[in-house]
Amino acid sequence: MDKTGIIKPVLDANYPMISHGKGIYLYDENGKRYIDGSSGAVTANIGHGVDEIADAMHEQAMQVAFVYRSHFTSLPAEKLAKKLARITPGDLNWTFFVNSGSEATETALKVAIQYFQEQGIHTKTKILSRWTSYHGITLGALSMSGHHKRRERFSALLEDFPAAPAPYCYQCPLKNTYPGCGLECAGELERAIEQEGPENIAAFIFEPIIGAAGGAIVPPPGYYEKVKEICDKYQILTIADEVMTGMGRTGKMFAIDHWGIEPDIMTLGKGLSAGYTPMAATVVSDRIINVIRKGSKVVMSGHTFSANPLSAAACCSVMEYMDQQNLVQNAGEQGERLLNGLKELEQKYPFVGNVRGKGLLCGLELVNDAVNHTPFSFIHRVGEKLISICFDKGLIIYPAFGGVTGYEGDSVLISPPLVITSFQVYELIRILDE
Ligand code: PLP
Repeated sequence: MDKTGIIKPVLDANYPMISHGKGIYLYDENGKRYIDGSSGAVTANIGHGVDEIADAMHEQAMQVAFVYRSHFTSLPAEKLAKKLARITPGDLNWTFFVNSGSEATETALKVAIQYFQEQGIHTKTKILSRWTSYHGITLGALSMSGHHKRRERFSALLEDFPAAPAPYCYQCPLKNTYPGCGLECAGELERAIEQEGPENIAAFIFEPIIGAAGGAIVPPPGYYEKVKEICDKYQILTIADEVMTGMGRTGKMFAIDHWGIEPDIMTLGKGLSAGYTPMAATVVSDRIINVIRKGSKVVMSGHTFSANPLSAAACCSVMEYMDQQNLVQNAGEQGERLLNGLKELEQKYPFVGNVRGKGLLCGLELVNDAVNHTPFSFIHRVGEKLISICFDKGLIIYPAFGGVTGYEGDSVLISPPLVITSFQVYELIRILDE
C-alpha cells in the first residue's frame, strides 16, 4: 500500500486512472470506456473534451489568469455577470462569484441575513429548509441541509435551523396522497415558521427538484405557488438552490422556470462551468442589493479565487457553446426519451419502484415492495450495488440516498451530459436494463 497520496473518497479503494474524455464518454488508462451517465456529480453538462472551452481558457491564461477581487475587476467576470443577469428570472441582476456550490449557498445565507440587518432587523438569522435536501458540505450549508448521512458526524457543530417535510409524494413523509392531501407538506412550512417565529427566519432555501439527497424529487402541481404565498406573508426571502438543476439541466435554463418562480436569491454551480474549472455563483436581486447599497455597501463574504478571470472566461465560453448547440432544448427532448426508457424499466421490474425527473435530471428508486413502496433493508445496500455493477459495465450513475434517515433509500440519479444523442440514450438504457 502507498504511504503517500491523495485522500480518496474511500481511502484504500482502487479507482481507475482517467486518461481522457470526449462527449459523454470517459476512458481510463486501460482503454475502458464509460458512459458518463451522471455527468460526474451532475456537472459535465456540455460533455468532455470541448476544444472551444480549452481555447478560451488558453487565451485568457495568456492574458491574465488571476487577479484579486478587491484590486481589479476583469472583462470575463463582468461579461459573465451580465450574461447571468440576462438569463435569470425577475430582477436577479447581481452576481457574487465563488468556487463551489457550498460556498454559493453559504453566501446566499449571509446575504439574506445581511439584508435584514441593514434595515435594523437583527433577529432574522435562521434559514428554513426541507428535510430531505442537500445544499452543501461546509458547516453553514450543511446546517441548511436535510441530509442525515452527511450531517450526523458533525451535528454538534451545526446551527439549529428549522425544517419542513419534503414534497416527496412517492414516500410522503406525512403519509398522505396527492391531491387529496391538500399540499399539507407546503402547509407544514407555515407551521415550522410559526413554531420558530417568523421574526427569526431570514429565508427559505430549496432545491426546485431535490437531487443528491433523494433522487430527482419533483414537487406536485400547486406546491410552489403555496410556498411563495407563505414566504411572502411572513417576509421570508426565497433562495432557489439551482446548483444542480440550473444551466439547462432540466430542459429549461433553470428548474424554477417550470413553475414561473422569481426567487430573491439563486445559487449556481456545477453546470455553470460544466466542470472545466471550479466556479459557482450567488445571484442576488436588485431589491437586496439596493438595501445593502444604501447601508454598509459591502457584501460581507469572499474567497481568494472569487471571480477569477480564468474561470469566468471558461464559463462564458461554456454558455456560448450551450447556445450554439441548443443544449437546453436537447436536454428537454432527450430527457423525455430517457424518462420514457426508464419508465419501461419501471414496468418491467417490480423492484424499480419509481422513476421521475425533468429533462436530463432523472431519478430511479429501487424498492423491495412496489405496492407498498417499502424500501430494501439498509444492510442490502441495493443502490450501491446497482451503481457498482453499472460502473463495471461502463455506465456511471450517481447515488442519491442517505438523506431521509441516513440508512434508507436506494435512489440513483441518471443525468448524462446535455449533448447526449438519441442513440446514446438507448445505449445507456440498454446497459441499465442488463
Ligand atoms: N447545492 C446543491 C443543490 C447540490 O446538489 C450541491 C452538490 O451536490 C451543492 C449545493 C454543493 O455544491 P459543491 O459540491 O460544489 O460544494
